[in-house]
Amino acid sequence: MRGMTADYCDLHMHSTASDGTDAPRDLPRLCAAAGVGAFALTDHDTTAGLGDCAEAAGGLGLDFLPGIELSTNPDVLNTGRSVGALHLLGYGIDPRDPPLEDALRRLRQARGQRNPLIIERLNELGVRIGYEEVLAVAGIASAADAEAAIVGRPHIGQVLVEKGYVKSIHEAFVRYLGAGGAAYVRRDLLTAADAIAVIHSAGGVAVLAHPVQLRLADHDALEHFVARLSDLGLDGLETRHPDHQPADVERFSRLARRFRLLVAGGSDYHGSRKSLGLNNQRVPRGVFDALREAIAGGRARG
Ligand code: AMP
Ligand code: ZN
Ligand code: FE
Ligand code: FE
Repeated sequence: MRGMTADYCDLHMHSTASDGTDAPRDLPRLCAAAGVGAFALTDHDTTAGLGDCAEAAGGLGLDFLPGIELSTNPDVLNTGRSVGALHLLGYGIDPRDPPLEDALRRLRQARGQRNPLIIERLNELGVRIGYEEVLAVAGIASAADAEAAIVGRPHIGQVLVEKGYVKSIHEAFVRYLGAGGAAYVRRDLLTAADAIAVIHSAGGVAVLAHPVQLRLADHDALEHFVARLSDLGLDGLETRHPDHQPADVERFSRLARRFRLLVAGGSDYHGSRKSLGLNNQRVPRGVFDALREAIAGGRARG
């Protein structure tokens, strides 16, 4: 599987363990077919897919890093204005680390509390969908099993599409599910400080995902923000992401050099739930190797 066609890596993707549509054990084959020789699985708030994925990757001779993506509270840095999405990627984490397991359990419970409230609001708005339909889309047989699983707004969005209330999951976010949507409900999130600490405790490195989604006013504001995150122990920046223009990749790379941060990048593949293919960022293989070296060198604790 190595060689000329596999000289890319992909460090951002989701599986059925969270809100992607491909099973963890199927991702390595799809990566190989897309020219990816090294990758990380970064499901939201769960490590449940990592074992299967690592095993299948090994079977195909692909290099693999266990990962995770944590949404964190965007108010934590007290910048005086609300930022957009503050997501942290963790690479090289030990899925059995007790503080990490604890934090993930709490995040799943927060989802379990939020999701029925969203359904309730939708019903009040005359949008007739049930929780069981959402669980079915998420591949969960009963509400009792929902505890250990990740049910996200994209699952709710898919039910809204299937029942004809909206034309796309994106429209579902704009009208109902996103911040400002008619059925928006907050869920409890980690602070960025806690997310970085828990990734480090599990032996991983913490990387700021898709910085453009912070929606900061200008590059100075971003620099200030990254400086604060660096003080909290941030290890890297995701420079390549489908939301980034070439000029963004340039300036984020410069920022990473300036703050001596690692770089990462990936497709944010969600299978058929988003129209983004694997390897859409053509991230050079060396990016994976540098991350893996930093993890092995214990940069996170250093
Ligand atoms: P949740 O995990 O329930 O908080 O939902 C977050 C997920 O929704 C992430 O996977 C995002 O990629 C996805 N998402 C957020 N905004 C949108 C949007 N406007 N269109 C489609 N997906 C979105
Ligand atoms: Zn997602
Ligand atoms: Fe994200
Ligand atoms: Fe993602």
